[in-house]
Amino acid sequence: MARYLVQTFGCQMNVHDSRRIEEVLRAAEHEPTDDGALADVIVVNTCSVREKAEHKLMSLLGTLRPLKEARRDVVVVVAGCVAQQEGERLLRKSDVVDLVLGPDNIPELPALLRELAHGAPRQARTVFDDASPRFLVAQPTGKEVAQYVTVMKGCDERCTFCVVPYTRGSERYRPADEIVGEIARMVAGGVREVTLLGQTVNSWYDPSALDSKPTGRRAPSGSRFAHLLRRIAREVPGLLRLRYTSPHPRHLTEELVAAHRDLELIPAHLHLPVQSGSDAVLRRMARRYTRDEYLRRVRSLQKARPGTTLSTDLIVGFPGETEEDFEQTLSLVREAGFVAAFCFKYSPRPHTPALKLGDDVPESVKDERLQRLFEVVGAQQRAHLDSLVGTTQRVLVEGPNDASVHRYTGRSGRHEIVHLEAPAGVDPTGRLVDVRIRQAYDHSLLGVMEGAELPERPRRRSSKKLPLLGGRA
Ligand code: SF4
Repeated sequence: MARYLVQTFGCQMNVHDSRRIEEVLRAAEHEPTDDGALADVIVVNTCSVREKAEHKLMSLLGTLRPLKEARRDVVVVVAGCVAQQEGERLLRKSDVVDLVLGPDNIPELPALLRELAHGAPRQARTVFDDASPRFLVAQPTGKEVAQYVTVMKGCDERCTFCVVPYTRGSERYRPADEIVGEIARMVAGGVREVTLLGQTVNSWYDPSALDSKPTGRRAPSGSRFAHLLRRIAREVPGLLRLRYTSPHPRHLTEELVAAHRDLELIPAHLHLPVQSGSDAVLRRMARRYTRDEYLRRVRSLQKARPGTTLSTDLIVGFPGETEEDFEQTLSLVREAGFVAAFCFKYSPRPHTPALKLGDDVPESVKDERLQRLFEVVGAQQRAHLDSLVGTTQRVLVEGPNDASVHRYTGRSGRHEIVHLEAPAGVDPTGRLVDVRIRQAYDHSLLGVMEGAELPERPRRRSSKKLPLLGGRA
């Protein structure tokens, strides 16, 4: 039986794809190993959204060379967005690579491995499944409390900095019956929280519905997504939390806001990428909303669902960004009150329209702006978490935490990470429990579940980063 190892870079969408890669390999009677030296198949699932991810790939391929020279039978597969973007070029760039596999070609992996074993040449398989999109169904393990369900893939936006439309293709949607069916099966298997995934998840519409023909579907797309949320809530009553990522601000419609108001199982938190606070930069990014439109939409959400917190994605140093533009971003961060943000320096990506704009903001200026942004976002995050000390939060417990036998980790109703002490002998995994918050760290909270004691011990603020939430937008 062949052993495999999957190494993942990038966003939540890639983490999800890696799980599907593992399921496809297990179904073909491969078994997992954590030890690269023992693996017969090494899959590197790549991301091309940031330049660093490509550098990481090339340096990882360099470290695999000695293994490959010692064992000619080891198969190295590069999957994900860099695979889609580079295709056969990757085979020319690195002779360590045996197979290049696009995100839509994951189901073909076992057959391609068999062909290689029978002497087929190295190859790139990067064909989009536009004509009949396939959505890989997650196999519940019975252990996970939280799971991801893909509802759409690809992107029809053309943000000028973003390579995703090139690496993931145009938008393809999954029928509502399939989505609801998969969630119902997950919940029957013990899952309690589902996150709907898509590059612009709230542009979803039901491809099997009569009114979903491409003509005129743009405006009401977020409304159709709102119907999907309501249908899931109605038809899968055992589901305790329903999240989605990443929404595009353009599709945050009134109907979607109303779904947040009416459906308690949607957390009072939204990760809504804004990218910049300057209208001039937003225009050059082709984001198709203004700063005011963004703020109006989030205010309407917060009015409909009081207490809703926001996180976002931000880019500094986009071509032509002036100090004034950047200050607009800082002021938007304050005005929207983001409690977390993924902040990145602009880096030119291949095949993107922004390449034509140059890369004229000096690296030192990007560094300095990024630092200032981190300070403002960090201060807001700390103030928010500090304000929760002394409150009681309803937490969905995801599982044990290594810190102590009685300690577990879960998420609050606003998606804050909460570490909690449970009463001796009680395993609250998969349950909603009330937790009294005793302490705030930089990115998480510590509390005690009703009926449990919190041992006194000095603790330092954690510097651990929040896991990456988004799949772009
Ligand atoms: S940033 Fe998001 S919405 Fe824009 S092109 Fe990329 S994936 Fe699409």
